[in-house]
Amino acid sequence: MSALLAVRRLGAAPAAAGRSPLVSCRRWAGSPADTVYDVVVSGGGLVGAAMACALGYDTHFHDKKILLLEAGPKKVLEKLPETYSNRVSSISPGSATLLSSFGAWDHICNMRYRAFRRMQVWDACSEALIMFDKDNLEDMGYIVENNVIMHALTKQLEAVSDRVTVLYQSKAVGYTWPGPFSMADSSPWVHITLGDGSTLQTKLLIGADGHNSGVRQAAGIQNISWHYDQSAVVATLHLSEATENNVAWQRFLPSGPIALLPLSDTLSSLVWSTSHEHAAELVSMDEEHFVDAINSAFWSDANHTDFIDSASTMLHYAVAFLKPTKVSARQLPPSVARVDAKSRVLFPLGLGHAAEYVRPRLALIGDAAHRVHPLAGQGVNMGFGDISSLAHHLSIAAFNGKDLGTDYGLCKQMNAPLL
Ligand SMILES: Cc1cc2nc3c(=O)[nH]c(=O)nc-3n(C[C@H](O)[C@H](O)[C@H](O)COP(=O)(O)OP(=O)(O)OC[C@H]3O[C@@H](n4cnc5c(N)ncnc54)[C@H](O)[C@@H]3O)c2cc1C
Repeated sequence: MSALLAVRRLGAAPAAAGRSPLVSCRRWAGSPADTVYDVVVSGGGLVGAAMACALGYDTHFHDKKILLLEAGPKKVLEKLPETYSNRVSSISPGSATLLSSFGAWDHICNMRYRAFRRMQVWDACSEALIMFDKDNLEDMGYIVENNVIMHALTKQLEAVSDRVTVLYQSKAVGYTWPGPFSMADSSPWVHITLGDGSTLQTKLLIGADGHNSGVRQAAGIQNISWHYDQSAVVATLHLSEATENNVAWQRFLPSGPIALLPLSDTLSSLVWSTSHEHAAELVSMDEEHFVDAINSAFWSDANHTDFIDSASTMLHYAVAFLKPTKVSARQLPPSVARVDAKSRVLFPLGLGHAAEYVRPRLALIGDAAHRVHPLAGQGVNMGFGDISSLAHHLSIAAFNGKDLGTDYGLCKQMNAPLL
């Protein structure tokens, strides 16, 4: 009965999907001899690859067939490059625990990462400041290059190749959902067509194909989106002198936040969110002016006004009087001396949120389900939170011999970041 209900509910998807480029239709014209997988993950970015690892290393999945589809090439680092990548992520301790659970964190530790133990966030227009730290100076998070995380995941996927098949340079170009009623010639599974014309079937499709998710569009799931009218400029920066460099700095400028994330004693990574015009200017200006612009963004008090300064001082005294707490001293950010050549790139920023994350035979994870501004450094951590939750429910379903495509209905809390 529940399977029938599930199939009936699925029947609603194609009508809404009619406008999408990856049109899904009810009758399947593919070969009945297609391979049927238990789970197909469409999209092998950081989140999809980690999802495939989580299932591949789950003992309850030992007899399951898992496929990861990735449109791009395989990404392994033959040798760790001397130059740091300009694409980095702030990884929470909870995400590091998830990566440890299937062995990927060990690879990261053997390559490189930088722990940070404090975070100072302050305002450019007033004295307002918030400092996050832990008394015992435990790690608050880790700055890791995305290509290092990807390498670690790829290595771990290679080690479970008997359970997880990975098809690189394989783009899914069509998804077909099962019809509302089982017919003699119909299949109850999701059908997938690849760019080379080949077809396959799966009991559960996990869409991890990024913020423009084709899976989400084909399922007709509404996505609420917003353009921030901002771009983020990233770059690898050399500090003026070597420091302990274990603080993540972020200052809120009138045009958007600028952040400096530690990479080593002498290097930090920049994420500067600002208007598209200013971002374009920042990536094209000469190195000297770019470095001056960063130092002034962190150090200049040109946006302060006497009125806001006195108001915030009075508020500060009032709060300290009413609720005395131990206040961490304001620290000064390091100054920047130069920028790595060719490390300056900009990314337009947007928000997106799918109206549904799970449906029978379908789950959305990572940016396919939710895309956020990078100012809190939580995008991939939220994706890892999805994995933790979904993998947990799928593992229970597999242990109990249930249908993986319909028995994870409890999975409602998927976008909680792993802290
Ligand atoms: C400047 C910047 C800084 C950021 N900093 C942080 C940070 O510090 N911490 C943090 O947690 N997050 C951060 N984020 C967010 C984070 O980068 C994203 O949330 C994360 O990369 C999303 O991963 P994903 O795997 O869901 O999607 P994606 O990275 O978009 O991966 C999707 C994958 O799917 C593949 N694909 C797409 N379509 C198909 C198809 N039809 N068939 C097969 N494959 C397909 C693509 O090739 C791609 O590999 C930042 C983002 C930006 C822009």
